[in-house]
Amino acid sequence: MKQLRVPGPTPCPEGVLKAVAQQMINHRGPHFQAIMERVTGRLKEFFNTKNDLFILTASGTGGMETAVVNHLSPGDKALAITNGYFGERFADIARAFGADVTRLEFPWGEGAQPAALKAALEKDKDIKAVIMVHNETSTGLTNPVRELAQVVRAAERLMIVDAISSMGAVELPMDAWGVDVLVTASQKGWMVPPGLAMIAVSPRAWLYSGQAKMPRYYWDLSKARRFLEKGQTPWTPAISMIYGLDSALEMMAREGQANIIARHRRVADAVRGRVKALGLKLFPDEKFASNTVTCIRAPQGVDVKPMLKYLREEEGIVLAGGQGALDGKAFRIGHLGWVNDKDVDEIMKGVEKGLARAGYVKA
Ligand code: PLP
Repeated sequence: MKQLRVPGPTPCPEGVLKAVAQQMINHRGPHFQAIMERVTGRLKEFFNTKNDLFILTASGTGGMETAVVNHLSPGDKALAITNGYFGERFADIARAFGADVTRLEFPWGEGAQPAALKAALEKDKDIKAVIMVHNETSTGLTNPVRELAQVVRAAERLMIVDAISSMGAVELPMDAWGVDVLVTASQKGWMVPPGLAMIAVSPRAWLYSGQAKMPRYYWDLSKARRFLEKGQTPWTPAISMIYGLDSALEMMAREGQANIIARHRRVADAVRGRVKALGLKLFPDEKFASNTVTCIRAPQGVDVKPMLKYLREEEGIVLAGGQGALDGKAFRIGHLGWVNDKDVDEIMKGVEKGLARAGYVKA
């Protein structure tokens, strides 16, 4: 395989692969403590936060569940902003634990509107928390979290954000934008294999968690906080993935956050430019197009699944199909983490060939 370009897991740099292959150490000893403190400190820099931050042994969804169960009680009203597959998942998780969830729905591919959020929060003063996705991986769309968070702050509710496929690669300064709970996962912009979720929580979120009655044990952040004081986690962590994260963060610190964000913007612009030059259409409203994943409408008459099979088997390029309601109707190119301009050229040459083979002719 030449190019793994699904929106996570992403390819891992050589240094990260070497790091995860290291021998085990005692997760209750001083060596692990030093790594945890370094990694946690660096993650806080990338989150631009002074808040508490925890590393969980979980995929991103475990982080989403952690965000819900630590801050709400059964029967609490939560407003879930949905405009894609992962927004739906967040709403489902909250409902599964007994929250009284109302959806603020926007069509897939359209950005969530701050004015509609404002109206919804004014209409129902009992809504305690707003839960939402920053980067909707299913549609290749980045929601305007900065503006939405301003509305939530003004209305004095809790703001819980899944930034699983954006954090580390796209601008989202947690403290400056006033997000209370922020979740991400290792296999996305962090260039690490799947296995870790990272979650940061504001002092306001701690006030909620003191009263939250949803059942939790493995995901209890108050336990995580007690253990982190000793540079530990309550349960045996995925030590290998933490080695990998340590290596990735070292590399990311060398590149610098501003450069990483600029690289993702440049690469995404290049992908979008090539997509449009081929006469294809982006799925989302371009104003909100994501810098980590591009979702492309299947052109009329082109069967996406055999095209993706050809790319995978003949060109060594692995892309993602459409997700949920977009199955068979779109395909997606992940361009997050370890990606540069040269990759775009290789990927898009492959896409061009795949489309031609599928009988696509530019209109
Ligand atoms: N939320 C978003 C926006 C995602 O992109 C993903 C994974 O693709 C998830 C949640 C779920 O993460 P995981 O598959 O790691 O549980």
